[in-house]
Amino acid sequence: MQLRGACLGLALLAAPQGAQAAADAGTAKAILMRSVAFRTVQGAGQVPKLAAYYADVLRQAGFAEEDIVITPMGETATFAATIKGRDAALKPLLMIGHMDVVEADPKDWTRDPFVPVEENGYIFGRGAEDNKYDVAMMVATLAQLKKEGWTPRRTVTLLLSGDEETDMATTRALAARYKDAEMLLNGDGGGGLLNEAGEPVLYQLQAGEKTYADFEIGFTDAGGHSSAPTPGNPIYKLAKAIDRIAAYEFPAMRNELTQASLALSADRIGAAAMRCAAILSGLTREGVEVDRTGRSGPVVEVYPAAALKLWDLPHQGYKGREAANARRRAALVQLIEGALPWLNLGEHAEICAESDDALDSVLCAAIAGLALRGQIAEIPSEHHEAAAVEGWIALPARH
Ligand SMILES: [Zn+2]
Repeated sequence: MQLRGACLGLALLAAPQGAQAAADAGTAKAILMRSVAFRTVQGAGQVPKLAAYYADVLRQAGFAEEDIVITPMGETATFAATIKGRDAALKPLLMIGHMDVVEADPKDWTRDPFVPVEENGYIFGRGAEDNKYDVAMMVATLAQLKKEGWTPRRTVTLLLSGDEETDMATTRALAARYKDAEMLLNGDGGGGLLNEAGEPVLYQLQAGEKTYADFEIGFTDAGGHSSAPTPGNPIYKLAKAIDRIAAYEFPAMRNELTQASLALSADRIGAAAMRCAAILSGLTREGVEVDRTGRSGPVVEVYPAAALKLWDLPHQGYKGREAANARRRAALVQLIEGALPWLNLGEHAEICAESDDALDSVLCAAIAGLALRGQIAEIPSEHHEAAAVEGWIALPARH
């Protein structure tokens, strides 16, 4: 499943009780690597073995035998692991994922799909993302919480299906068995985010999904002959109906989940966007013309890292105080002086090497200068309308 819906951070699950599941990335990665090696495609009979492996991990973390239930279903199985809540009257919180993967023919793959390998910080293998990555994250988090003696107010259960990619019989069985839940968080939607320094910012589980609805519209008429079309014949009526549907704009809607998701994401990743919105509305209030496309007026939106990339310069891991990042930043400043002869940092090179804020400010100003001289990439005409509303990031023109 690839849809990304409204998500709640896993942090929300742990935070109210004050427990801090220090996500042990090493453990999660080890679980993921082991998981990928189980060839859990339909018919291979490997799902129960993978389930037994997860049970093992959780038992070692302190889960009692009776809190882990593996239920065989044909050649596959369902998996349930529970941390009992303090208040038995409260409905449980469920987390879900799937253990099976889509078939993978080694002939179609550069690497063996069932031999997990790590290259340049990426893990390759069937299911490395969908869904063993998220399952590994959930199993590792529950193991950690258990080790820390976490007792939630309401019961928390991890449910894993075993044929989500094919028949979904295990999915239906779990849905029937665990239907009375307070909330369900889906590990097959959501995902994680790293910042530019490669540090974890946010990990999300899907709490709801926007879906679609089919409607059937029909028009009938008494009929007649095409040599004498009637003014209100069904084809004309249908054309008008389609026009009206096309013109309809759905109202923006929000609910508890989208608001919680936005609040959490805004805390972690929205600060820059909100600051920009505040500056733009402040300028508008003062009577300054704000053209979100940046094609006129004094405001232009820029993105230093993207510009660095276009200039073929290192564009990642140069922010923050960590020694490695500081070294990368110092090297970057030297490269900038070589690659952009028109940008003379002069005596300011030192402060740019010291502070990513200073360096970014200089880069922003430099890109704005290019925009002023028209040396930035054109906005494709089909994007003019959207850019006027949503804004457009000015990037240096490629030469
Ligand atoms: Zn999936």
